[in-house]
Amino acid sequence: MIPPKVTGALAALPRPVCAYVYDREVLRRTAAEVRAALPAGALLLYAVKANGHPQVVAALAEVVDGLEVASGGELALATQAGAATIAFGGPAKTDTELAAAVSTGTLVHAESLLELRRLAAVAGGRPVRVALRVNRPGAGLSGSHAMTGVPTPFGIEEAALGEAVALVRGLPALRLVGFHLHAVSNNLDAAAHAAYVADALDWALATARRLGVDLSYVNVGGGFGVDYTGNARFDLAALRAGLAGIALPEGVTLAFEPGRYLAAPAGWYAAEVLDLKRTHGRWFAVLRGGTHHFRLPAAWGYSHPATVLARDAWPYPFERPEVRDAVVDVTGELCTPRDVLARDLPVDRLRVGDVLVFGNTGGYGWDISHHDFLRHPYPSIAVI
Ligand SMILES: *Cc1c(COP(=O)(O)O)cnc(C)c1O
Repeated sequence: MIPPKVTGALAALPRPVCAYVYDREVLRRTAAEVRAALPAGALLLYAVKANGHPQVVAALAEVVDGLEVASGGELALATQAGAATIAFGGPAKTDTELAAAVSTGTLVHAESLLELRRLAAVAGGRPVRVALRVNRPGAGLSGSHAMTGVPTPFGIEEAALGEAVALVRGLPALRLVGFHLHAVSNNLDAAAHAAYVADALDWALATARRLGVDLSYVNVGGGFGVDYTGNARFDLAALRAGLAGIALPEGVTLAFEPGRYLAAPAGWYAAEVLDLKRTHGRWFAVLRGGTHHFRLPAAWGYSHPATVLARDAWPYPFERPEVRDAVVDVTGELCTPRDVLARDLPVDRLRVGDVLVFGNTGGYGWDISHHDFLRHPYPSIAVI
């Protein structure tokens, strides 16, 4: 279950083992699979916030068409990675960040009318391409984070679009290319996703006609899901079949910007068992690691599956603690009862000194975690 390459990388690390392993081959393969499911000519961007490790970003930049960034830091990373196309979203861009976007030729996903004014002021006449991020009514999809169709700080309301388009017309530096419609994160229903994309495109074409926008860009966002606890898959064949009927007018580029789906399967988080104990009837496996490295299960309230990597070496002259045929709660090194990666993990045998390996942790793993809480050393990061 743990690929030999990953086991090999972990074997080279100092004890106690605490590491992320990112596999570039998986990144490249997943990106190729996604591209094959998209209509010919579609623009595939990688949403950097899922995993901004420079080597991960660089590996993906080679095989996708560009990068979607959501901060000045990510923009700098994308520029360093040599991304051919960079798109910049996010509801709170500073003037400094907007200036960096202008000077790097970045496409800006504008989130408000004020942002359009500030962007034009910062550009000072230098040309900049913009797409309007829109919070459409009722255009939601099922998933774990709805971005549109509900009150959120993201994008411009449909009712304000006429005003936004008129504003852009009066700001000569800005060239309006289209719309950005990211709607959801972690949707597992690929057929529903294809229907959402078709509807978003129809909406963009109709809205561009109505408002007189010379449409060349429709970005339908990311949101392809990963099932962490079961065997469901975001079915790329169903996505491909659902998108096959889409009629894209000449000159209009359809852009996708997945993060999780590209990054998650390429990552493994590994942490060594430092102690095993039983309190009030439950077994606890205490790790050198925890939610300050991998916050997702705590943030979402689920148990992340883990595989035991047996390590036979035991350096001490005293007995090695172990449990057999038990369920254990997998907890970390933080002094809080919330530092839990999994509850009721079934194990045939688990010993102090064995390593638990958590798959599918390459996206929203290390990047969303509170690294400095309690000041433990960071995990090693091995990019293979
Ligand atoms: C986070 C984000 C993405 C990526 O979402 P995933 O669910 O990881 O695919 C894409 N676009 C925008 C605007 C985002 O904020």
